[in-house]
Amino acid sequence: MKILLATKNKGKIREMNAMFGDLPVEFVGVDFLGEVPDVVEDGNTFHENALKKAMTFFNISSMPVLAEDSGLEVDALEGAPGIYSARFAGENASDQDNIRKLLEMMRDVPKEQRTARFISVLCFVMDSKPHFFEGEVRGSITDTPSGSSGFGYDPVFVPEGYDKTFAELGPEIKNTISHRAKAINKFKDFLKEFIQQK
Ligand code: IMP
Repeated sequence: MKILLATKNKGKIREMNAMFGDLPVEFVGVDFLGEVPDVVEDGNTFHENALKKAMTFFNISSMPVLAEDSGLEVDALEGAPGIYSARFAGENASDQDNIRKLLEMMRDVPKEQRTARFISVLCFVMDSKPHFFEGEVRGSITDTPSGSSGFGYDPVFVPEGYDKTFAELGPEIKNTISHRAKAINKFKDFLKEFIQQK
């Protein structure tokens, strides 16, 4: 079964194919369809954005589609940056810009109140009915960035039970405990069951 992954990121597509190597599925990116529109992520929730991406590409291709929306929610900031995580410091903000803004806003927040969580919401559409899979990882925000692996807010996020940031822990550990890994594993269980029933 071919599944369209609602991304152009070749790294993400390769990673998904490696993770699902034991199942008869192949992930292809939206470039597989040729020219495709950019989907404006204007929903109010991770679920709405993931659904919009999945339905847009399902309507174009009629293929099974998997889309993801994810972000960071900081308790002391009432859930910000949330759905605005990628563009927290502005439309074309870099990861460094977003981290700088976050740390600046949290300058006076004491250690015990710096709790946060990453959230990943996957939306899978294969007929017109969407299926959602969620994952979260709780942790806290450091005072300064450390580490060089990963992306986004990884250099300032320390997952619960560890004393290093995701960017210091590296992909082996991150990919077993992350919000995304948890959501993907739920999707994988769903797919296994679906394939067995066929
Ligand atoms: P999306 O592409 O709309 O899902 O944007 C997700 C944004 O949330 C990214 O650009 C990052 O800023 C942040 N984010 C989501 N997952 C992670 C993660 O695993 N590590 C660090 N930042 C993340």
